[in-house]
Amino acid sequence: MTTQHDPVMDMQVDEHSAKILQQRLDALNGADYPDMVIPYFQGNVRHSCPKARQSTARRAVSSSIDVREIYWSDDDVTALIFRAGTCKKCGFLVRSVIGRAVNVADRPPISGRVGRD
Ligand SMILES: [Zn+2]
Repeated sequence: MTTQHDPVMDMQVDEHSAKILQQRLDALNGADYPDMVIPYFQGNVRHSCPKARQSTARRAVSSSIDVREIYWSDDDVTALIFRAGTCKKCGFLVRSVIGRAVNVADRPPISGRVGRD
């Protein structure tokens, strides 16, 4: 079953479009729930990785996960921003459950170092 959430909405955001985008994120998480839930603004995550090179059977080692901003928009007016990433060593999945709805003109995608979809 998919849990429904309301996105965090900036001012001047179309509420209907924002809720449709959030429903899509709810469906994605319903089908493939993350191992760790992260806020839409969190750019870096560490977890105890059992497959990190220095890990032993008794001790997992803290390992960094690159988290990308994902920017969804159907109409180039309203967008939903959230973050997701996967541990390259063990596949541990982190993703936001609640996105932030923004006006595309006010908050375009981050460019440069941080990847995006
Ligand atoms: Zn890992």
